[in-house]
Amino acid sequence: MTYFWIALAALVVAFFAVIIIRALRFKPRATEAVAPTGVAADEQAAIAHLADMIRCKTISYYEDERIDKAEFAKFRALLRRHYPTVFERCSYEEIGPSGVLFFLKGKSAEKPAVFMSHYDVVPVNEEQWTKPAFDGLVEDGILWGRGTLDTKCTLLGVMEAAEHLLSDGFVPENDMYFAFAGDEEVAGKSQPVIVETLRARGIVPALVLDEGGAVVEGVFPGVKQPCALIGIAEKGLMDVQFVIEGAGGHASAPPSHTGIGRLARAVTRIEAKPFPATLTKPVAEMFDTLGRRSSFVYRLIFANLWCFLPVLDAICKKSGGELNAMMRTTCAFTMAEGSKASNVLPPRARMVANLRIISGSTCESTLKRLKTLVADDGIAVSIIHGTDPCKISHTQGYGWEKLTHAIAETWPEAEISPYLMFAASDSRHHSAISENVYRFSTMELTKEERAGIHGHDEHIPLEKIVKTVQFYVRLMRTL
Ligand SMILES: [Zn+2]
Repeated sequence: MTYFWIALAALVVAFFAVIIIRALRFKPRATEAVAPTGVAADEQAAIAHLADMIRCKTISYYEDERIDKAEFAKFRALLRRHYPTVFERCSYEEIGPSGVLFFLKGKSAEKPAVFMSHYDVVPVNEEQWTKPAFDGLVEDGILWGRGTLDTKCTLLGVMEAAEHLLSDGFVPENDMYFAFAGDEEVAGKSQPVIVETLRARGIVPALVLDEGGAVVEGVFPGVKQPCALIGIAEKGLMDVQFVIEGAGGHASAPPSHTGIGRLARAVTRIEAKPFPATLTKPVAEMFDTLGRRSSFVYRLIFANLWCFLPVLDAICKKSGGELNAMMRTTCAFTMAEGSKASNVLPPRARMVANLRIISGSTCESTLKRLKTLVADDGIAVSIIHGTDPCKISHTQGYGWEKLTHAIAETWPEAEISPYLMFAASDSRHHSAISENVYRFSTMELTKEERAGIHGHDEHIPLEKIVKTVQFYVRLMRTL
């Protein structure tokens, strides 16, 4: 018996020794410091040009008749005026409803790069804004307006960098494409049509860069320093409806289970069994990169996921939120409708859930699980619309290395890490023709600035506009 206790104690000591040693050895990987190369682009011109872009009211609406097409044409004319060298040296096409595609011929067609952006913006709620949303107002070192962050600034960065480099006689080693959509905010056809055009021309991009992550602080537990988060995949997206029909009648003599009662049971059954945790490549690599920068308690967990993954999973399931969304398919019930009167049983009751699907699953497999969980033949479960998760991009090789090098030059203090995007963006279409699609908004964004995206008082400090241009110059020079 004594031997048993001694052996057990030894095991416990060994266990703690292993997890503590692993946590102590879980240190940031050594990276070579990158010396920033100088960029002599015209800063004042860049700021003035972005203010001009903000003055174009390129607001997207789902209803085509509400869109002011003249503002979009004004924006495209502005590009021609501000970037004459780009128009002289590149071929220019207008593709699809509002897409524009520039092609800059390099010395080789072997490793083409695509710089994506969009020049439409979401509508504004004027009452909430304390500054004008479309005046291009510059005040105390800040440019105010819808689209400053999402994402006319990155579009500006591409165009300013190209104009600057081409004016100096620059010829890139490889072909470059600038692909801008005017309908990204309403999931329009422009970028898909651009992708089809590229595919038809046999182009396989070695690097695609679109908006997405950014240089941010305070987003990973226990990490204080800024992190440059590069989205290497997007979750799938699906709306599912749950419909029960033919259960109408007067509410004074109801059946033992009403239609709404059965739908409610379906909801609780689904919520009681969250989708299984899946540690996908973007999240595993994020834990492995940022976990090393974290405080000791978190390093204990992230260095020992072999034993703590179930613990982490249990915490995620309970807490919900972003960490949970990284680990699994999520299901949020968002709409419910029943009877129009309080004393009438609904002849048709319906609920809608919005799902974000983790890599490795599909819309079909997700629907199948929902049906199994609901286990009620009287409830019709069907997909309203859905998109499977896109392919996961590489975190090594040409595209990744060029991108991370330019980031390290521009934001040397930031730890660069892959991550998984929850939101759907136009870049998913490019995943069909490239394994090197990266989602990174080339800006350092505070929490307050991020709140302005699709919110009110969207604004950008002028020095961040300059940095965005510098970033694109540095990246393009190496391609
Ligand atoms: Zn955007």
